[in-house]
Amino acid sequence: MAKRQKVRVQLEVQRVEDISPSLRRVVLSGEDFDTYAEQHGDDTDTYVKLIFQSDAGEVKRTYSVPFIDREAREIAIIFVTHADEGFAGPWACSAQPGDVLTFEGPGSGYRPDPTADHHLFVGDESAIPAILAALAVLSPDARATAFLEVDDRTHEIDLPTAAHVEVNWLHRDQMQPGETDALFDAVRSWEWPAGRVHAFVHGESALLKTVRPYLLDGRVARSDISVSAYWRRGVDEQGFRQWKSQQDEAVMRPEV
Ligand SMILES: Cc1cc2nc3c(=O)[nH]c(=O)nc-3n(C[C@H](O)[C@H](O)[C@H](O)COP(=O)(O)OP(=O)(O)OC[C@H]3O[C@@H](n4cnc5c(N)ncnc54)[C@H](O)[C@@H]3O)c2cc1C
Repeated sequence: MAKRQKVRVQLEVQRVEDISPSLRRVVLSGEDFDTYAEQHGDDTDTYVKLIFQSDAGEVKRTYSVPFIDREAREIAIIFVTHADEGFAGPWACSAQPGDVLTFEGPGSGYRPDPTADHHLFVGDESAIPAILAALAVLSPDARATAFLEVDDRTHEIDLPTAAHVEVNWLHRDQMQPGETDALFDAVRSWEWPAGRVHAFVHGESALLKTVRPYLLDGRVARSDISVSAYWRRGVDEQGFRQWKSQQDEAVMRPEV
């Protein structure tokens, strides 16, 4: 593929579907589809910046684009319907066919390496879209383990894949997203598999200080980890970016 360019496009909501009590899939299409699709590569963590208007001007929010259907000329974005606060979550909660979404991008940096012996996926709901996209491209002989944190059993979803995947759903029950150590505890208790592990670790910012150092402590090569925070409890995306800019440079991928 030729060097990818960032484009700014507008697509229209075609359908809205709740895939769990906290995940809403919004399918988009429109005249700008081809302009975007030409830049959307093979990485499964491909993301864009959604653009909303606030009193102070444009506000950007980063979202994965886990599905692109070039025949139907559609993409899908899966939103965590986290609360009334913010721009993107509330927009998704009230999205209806005909609504227009403006976004720019894409950016990306990960696709499961077919030469790895084992794939590890760790994340909360915000990373489930990108993990769905990664699971969908694993080959039938691939082996993977996923640790996924959600509210409770009713928030578990289907994860279609051809591969051998052990899925461990972790329930935060009465706790809030970003408040539990469930993912870290589960990864620490996991019996480490033989061979080379390729890891995708994304979600609330605490993962950077817990799971990341644990993996880098001789378990996974730095070049075999895609790890970054996708959001930070208690601050909006601007506040999260500010926090990131104050952290160690090495944990700052992908740029937002
Ligand atoms: C590369 C990348 C890919 C991402 N992909 C996705 C994706 O596919 N789907 C997705 O839903 N998110 C995704 N995110 C996370 C998303 O960008 C943030 O959750 C973002 O803050 C949501 O914007 P907002 O306007 O709804 O809320 P904001 O205005 O940013 O925040 C308002 C409040 O909501 C809280 N909050 C934000 N996100 C969450 C959450 N997930 N759970 C609980 N509370 C939250 C904040 O801490 C804050 O208190 C991704 C982030 C990155 C960097």
